[in-house]
Amino acid sequence: MTDHAEIRASLLRRMEALERRVGRIAEDLRHESEPVEKDFEEQATQRENEDVLGALDDAGRRELAAIRAALSRIDAGSYGTCRRCGEPIATERLRVLPTALDCVGCAA
Ligand SMILES: [Zn+2]
Repeated sequence: MTDHAEIRASLLRRMEALERRVGRIAEDLRHESEPVEKDFEEQATQRENEDVLGALDDAGRRELAAIRAALSRIDAGSYGTCRRCGEPIATERLRVLPTALDCVGCAA
């Protein structure tokens, strides 16, 4: 009834997709950081690319952490309870935002 099996499965799918993406970005970053002789303009372009990849990596890692936290709350039986007021978080909200920590009232 409240085992959140459906949400758990979709969180796991999302986590696997993110882990693949973060892994690919990490590989790109390693490749980009290989010492190569370039003129100034090329170096500037390369630094911009690394900034973009770095930002994606951070966002991916943050989302991964939120998903892992949600999964451990499901396992601990505390999932779906607002961390601020202790009331249940609406199922509709959890469907839209499965990593939500607060109910709609507290998040507003
Ligand atoms: Zn609340």
